[in-house]
Amino acid sequence: MFSKILIANRGEIACRVIHTARRLGIRTVAVYSDADRDALHVALADEAVHIGPAAASESYLSKQKIIAAAQRTQAEAIHPGYGFLSENADFAEAVETAGLIFIGPSPASIRAMGLKDAAKALMERAGVPVVPGYHGDRQEPGFLAEQADGIGFPVLIKARAGGGGKGMRRVDRPEDFAASLEAAKREAKSAFGDDAVLIEKYLVKPRHIEIQVFGDSHGNAVHLFERDCSLQRRHQKVIEEAPAPGMTEEMRSAMGEAAVCAARAIDYCGAGTVEFIADVSGGLSPDRFFFMEMNTRLQVEHPVTEAIAGVDLVEWQLRVASGEPLPKSQDELTINGWAFEARIYAEDPSRGFLPATGTLSRLHFPEGEVRIDAGVREGDSITPHYDPLIAKLTVHAPDRAAALAKLTRGLEQTQVAGTTTNLDFLIRLSRQPDFAAGHPDTGLIDREVEALTSVQQPDDAALAIAAIVEAGGLARADVSDPWLSLGAWQLWGEPSRPVTLHFAGDQRSCRVTVRDHSSFGVAFDDRTIQVRLFANDGGARRVEIDGRQSRVDVFETPAGMTLFLDGQTHHFYRLDPLDGGEEAASGGDRVIAPMPGLVKIVRVREGDTVAKGQALIVMEAMKMELTLTAPRDGIVESLHVGEGDQTSESAVLLSLRPEDAA
Ligand code: ADP
Repeated sequence: MFSKILIANRGEIACRVIHTARRLGIRTVAVYSDADRDALHVALADEAVHIGPAAASESYLSKQKIIAAAQRTQAEAIHPGYGFLSENADFAEAVETAGLIFIGPSPASIRAMGLKDAAKALMERAGVPVVPGYHGDRQEPGFLAEQADGIGFPVLIKARAGGGGKGMRRVDRPEDFAASLEAAKREAKSAFGDDAVLIEKYLVKPRHIEIQVFGDSHGNAVHLFERDCSLQRRHQKVIEEAPAPGMTEEMRSAMGEAAVCAARAIDYCGAGTVEFIADVSGGLSPDRFFFMEMNTRLQVEHPVTEAIAGVDLVEWQLRVASGEPLPKSQDELTINGWAFEARIYAEDPSRGFLPATGTLSRLHFPEGEVRIDAGVREGDSITPHYDPLIAKLTVHAPDRAAALAKLTRGLEQTQVAGTTTNLDFLIRLSRQPDFAAGHPDTGLIDREVEALTSVQQPDDAALAIAAIVEAGGLARADVSDPWLSLGAWQLWGEPSRPVTLHFAGDQRSCRVTVRDHSSFGVAFDDRTIQVRLFANDGGARRVEIDGRQSRVDVFETPAGMTLFLDGQTHHFYRLDPLDGGEEAASGGDRVIAPMPGLVKIVRVREGDTVAKGQALIVMEAMKMELTLTAPRDGIVESLHVGEGDQTSESAVLLSLRPEDAA
């Protein structure tokens, strides 16, 4: 076994690898960029080496700097985590050339699966079923359009170098093919530096079921069952589970065998995942699953497999990379119970899941019952430089219903303030009836997106508590405990105060009246709510509203306050009357950058007449393409950016004037 390894990654996966290494008595070396000097993974590692600026291309993607860091600290092996260089065959090769061990498969295995088109052809030859489509070399738009016609719409255009759903476009009608092809190629070019695509039949109601495989250097290969990752948005996984609901033993062994066959076809060594798409239009069936791709690394969602199989996959990786045989044979592996994992992101589901940033003034996870894989601590920032994942929450229980109940409860007890998160979306998703009944499919989130992401107005209880906190007035600015600030307010001897609360797209005015030491009346236009606060006993704050007690926590954020009540998160904003936020929110005359990013395409010129909803500017931010549209009909009065410009959050990119005001 190794005595020291370097982890060529950051965030939760670097922390995850460090935990297992530490348990096995292996010393760890972290690497970090300027943005991560004080990051959790750096604090957890035994040693850490600075490798450059925040931009990943100059730090976490720099092969030379990482290998130099390993040599300098005398690490024997490099664990690539996932993302970054984990599936980069040139990196794996350079690591070996430098006399170090790459904790992952051989460069040849990575190459064989690196491009989706070549991988499909290889799998076809190995007798593994693949999705019907064109995965050849020809790339002329006209030829690809003909192929699409031959396959039959809808089709899916995929970047052959793709990953994370990027460079992927569903096309429903022949007339949309050319534009989608162009967009897919552009996204592929910028994400992977390779714009070649393949065309596949688009399965209308599919499930994404993948098999965890593991090989060693002694010619052994096993599978560790399946994961169902059908809950996706924009082709990215949201909640994963293992095993897959409705899976029969017959289908499980057919898929397991196909996956092991894929691994053997490329002499696979280490952890890998063979992704299949299953056509479930007629239920799960052993003759209707198709190979999509193989990921030659550890997956984000590996904890659900660890939970049901009772293994530590990072430990297996370390053992296999150091030359040991697989710890278990196929016969020794069994499924125990059910597991779910939810990915908690800093993002705004109500604004198309736009990635968010911010400083986590509160970060609290339920203790005991759940597994948390986090890459950040309370007080850390989510920056625009990297993936905005905050943590993964994994639960394990004897059966699916119990595990799902645990997932919902775990999410409800998670508290994040200082940024917008997808927690409420995840909670609603965990209760979605089709999913709860064990019928997930990759289109579920899109179909239900309105119900899952609509902004929920705070209820009476949340409004009343927020009003009382807000009424705390001056004392609040320097006392982070709202309960304490109330004492100060009472000293002023005022019987009541008016308060206006601002929350997502709306506001409410009320009057707060002190009744006695700890009870209040909060009067809205049509009703008055009675509130009693209890002293802070052991961290749990309690409040009684109209005769019912709840637990509540309130945290200050730079923009206002975040309140956690009955498993729900409510944000209240303090509006700065000078910042023009109202106009931006009402989508008036300006197009504003929703986040910091790069202007890729400007589709209009000054003086152009545009219609409401028309695409004006394409931005790239957080590795996503965002199309900004005209808030209303008008004429482009001024354009403040050009292609290639970097913009900051809330920058005005373009101004419109009404057509008749010309
Ligand atoms: P990436 O490597 O970018 O993640 P994948 O090939 O793994 O791309 O596909 C990602 C997701 O896209 C799948 O999980 C599935 O939801 C959807 N998908 C892929 N291929 C098809 C297809 N032929 N029909 C319908 N959906 C598909």
